[in-house]
Amino acid sequence: MRIQVTVDEAMQDYVASISLREPDVLRDLRKKTSELPLALMQISPEQGQFLALLVKAIGARRALEIGVFTGYSLLSTAMALPAGGRVVGLDISEEWTSIAREFAGRAGVAEKIELRVGDARQSLAALMRENGSAGSFDFVFIDADKENYAAYYEAALELLRPGGLIVVDNVLWHGAVLDEAQQDSETTALRAFNAKVRDDKRVVLSVVPFADGLTFALKR
Ligand code: SAH
Ligand code: CA
Repeated sequence: MRIQVTVDEAMQDYVASISLREPDVLRDLRKKTSELPLALMQISPEQGQFLALLVKAIGARRALEIGVFTGYSLLSTAMALPAGGRVVGLDISEEWTSIAREFAGRAGVAEKIELRVGDARQSLAALMRENGSAGSFDFVFIDADKENYAAYYEAALELLRPGGLIVVDNVLWHGAVLDEAQQDSETTALRAFNAKVRDDKRVVLSVVPFADGLTFALKR
């Protein structure tokens, strides 16, 4: 037996009641996003607050996000960066990132955010070709299409400085990784990704069953 608290809805509410400090602008963004059919893709406010803490804990100045949607995680990151800090956000959707842009303005962090709309693999290839980009990032959050996680992770390792941190979202995929009956492209990609990172000696690793499962990989 291992000591493990059961995180049901009541416990989630309790945790929120003793910890959540959601800024008004993020609450407004959540309300706006809740009108969209794919609102469930948004990270929770607890998770946004956790990302913000990590960004501050490692003293990040340059961050990268792969998978922006309407910007909840991007704004959480940007608001945690120091003055002069910058986060590059990659997403394929003009429609969704326009909401992120609008709320970045409202949050007063527009100058900290650089959005690049297009296929993330292409945006990453372009970013890696830019002078001084490789090895310059402190923090990368991976949360776009699951089939390409392995490619995003490899790009992230090139772009990070030694000691830089990768955070990967949804690695437990609502439990589907455990269910062999689930053989869709997202679930199989996540299983393969998790095994790849497990065997990757280039990183210091921790997988945490918080939210939908988070992987932390620190570049050696
Ligand atoms: N981090 C966001 C949620 C991201 S949802 C939040 O906190 O709210 C996943 C996002 O990945 C979607 O916005 C989708 O447009 C984007 N995406 C999917 N495939 C992509 C691709 N090939 N390149 C770039 N972005 C992609
Ligand atoms: Ca996610």
